[in-house]
Amino acid sequence: MNETTRTYDVIVIGGGPVGENVAERARAAGLSTVIVERELLGGECSFWACDPSKALLRPVVARADASRIPGLDPAVAGPLDVEAVLAHRDKMSSYWKDEDQVDWLNSVSVDLIRGHGRLTGPKRVAVQTPEGDTIALAARHAVAVSTGTRAALPPIPGVDTVRPWTSREATSADKVPGRLAVVGGGVVAVEMATVWQALGSQVTMLVLDNGLLERMEPFAGELVTDGLRESGVDIRFNTTVTSLTREDGEVRMTLSDGGQLVADEILLATGRAPQTHDVGLESVGLTPGDWLAVDDTFRVTDIDGGWLYAVGDVNRRALMTHQGKYQARIAGAAIGARANQEPIDDAPWGAHVATADHAAVPQVVFTTPEVASVGLTSREAERSGRRIEVVDYDLAHVAGAHQYGEDYRGRARMLIDTDRNTVVGVTFAGPGVGELVHSATIAVTGEVPLDRLWHAVPAFPTLGEVWLRLLETYRG
Ligand SMILES: Cc1cc2nc3c(=O)[nH]c(=O)nc-3n(C[C@H](O)[C@H](O)[C@H](O)COP(=O)(O)OP(=O)(O)OC[C@H]3O[C@@H](n4cnc5c(N)ncnc54)[C@H](O)[C@@H]3O)c2cc1C
Repeated sequence: MNETTRTYDVIVIGGGPVGENVAERARAAGLSTVIVERELLGGECSFWACDPSKALLRPVVARADASRIPGLDPAVAGPLDVEAVLAHRDKMSSYWKDEDQVDWLNSVSVDLIRGHGRLTGPKRVAVQTPEGDTIALAARHAVAVSTGTRAALPPIPGVDTVRPWTSREATSADKVPGRLAVVGGGVVAVEMATVWQALGSQVTMLVLDNGLLERMEPFAGELVTDGLRESGVDIRFNTTVTSLTREDGEVRMTLSDGGQLVADEILLATGRAPQTHDVGLESVGLTPGDWLAVDDTFRVTDIDGGWLYAVGDVNRRALMTHQGKYQARIAGAAIGARANQEPIDDAPWGAHVATADHAAVPQVVFTTPEVASVGLTSREAERSGRRIEVVDYDLAHVAGAHQYGEDYRGRARMLIDTDRNTVVGVTFAGPGVGELVHSATIAVTGEVPLDRLWHAVPAFPTLGEVWLRLLETYRG
């Protein structure tokens, strides 16, 4: 360490939603803390992921809901006002400026250094600033890597030459392409296909698998497939792109079935890769480009000394903001406890372990219809070897669904651990189900016995009555 090295208790590399929360929690534990951020404080979520995508989807989903309500349907029959939707998206993305987040960071007394951070050895970080300076940092207690992920591009011949859209362009574009090809069948693919079809593109989805949202219950992907097709999206399953060129402004694709497809833009929504290729992992004996494996307190397992933490997308546990922020609360508390030489509470559901990462990760897919899930799917339950009973219910038979809109289509599935008499997984698919997910998260996380859940009375007539119907179905 030389005179110009700045020393903090905790250094956080990456100021996305997760890094911000690790830092805030460490500071709350009384530790001096700095965030190193190379782009915008708030990360992918605020500027190129959650916030802009949900701002684009909200009018689409609201219009779909309104179009099923007698008396309101004629009012929403016309096209969306594209300019207004994009302006709303821009506002919800804070016009790609992070002053508000900087103000918040100041208010919680965490320092910010702008620049690219790299580990240079145990508890050491060097920051290359935009001005070309290097700032050396040393940590007394911990370094947390929260550098997130970027789009992983498939090795299709020609991919480097066609300037494909990734999630960044799909959430920030200010023109609607006439024809958009979407490669992929996961969450980003279905949400962005929903948006751009509604804004006026002719969307074609090219999906490697035989269905959409393959990690969820099959009925979820089937209902989303129906919704996308009804909106005009052309979905082609078991199809890959074998080569790509851009000629005269158009993207020309050769497909695995030998066919050709031409589009104005192509979105590659084919997964995520960790941003660890240039964060100095080699200086501490780790491999650049790898996901960072962690224990339940978020210490990186492949390294001695217990000073390096990896929190959020970069550890691959659950690539979602809310779960990353949960991890950040746990990791920040664990860093604080260790630094202050307090006991670590690492029994399941303890204050310093992220037990919910294994048992209850909630997710909402904001399509028409929506999908909401938490805990196990039936496929995962089968693999887990537990004794599980699967309970299905047609959401259209719930009184709240009749009120929600005409011709309501949806489905719910609840998985019961029959040895413990608790709910271990729930999936809903249907309009408006996103807001139901937290009730399911509480049931799963709280391990609420079914006999007690029976006394949790859903209000009439809400979609929440599906809980009563699922329990009645289970009890026969
Ligand atoms: C299109 C899309 C929509 C999504 N929608 C949702 C949603 O609705 N809800 C949800 O929960 N999740 C959603 N997600 C997932 C969510 O965006 C991520 O889970 C979340 O952003 C992860 O947060 P993070 O802090 O771990 O990483 P990031 O948000 O990726 O932040 C990492 C930060 O680290 C910085 N960084 C990287 N390397 C360095 C370095 N060497 N030095 C300094 N800084 C560095 C980056 O600039 C960035 O600011 C969506 C993702 C996509 C792609």
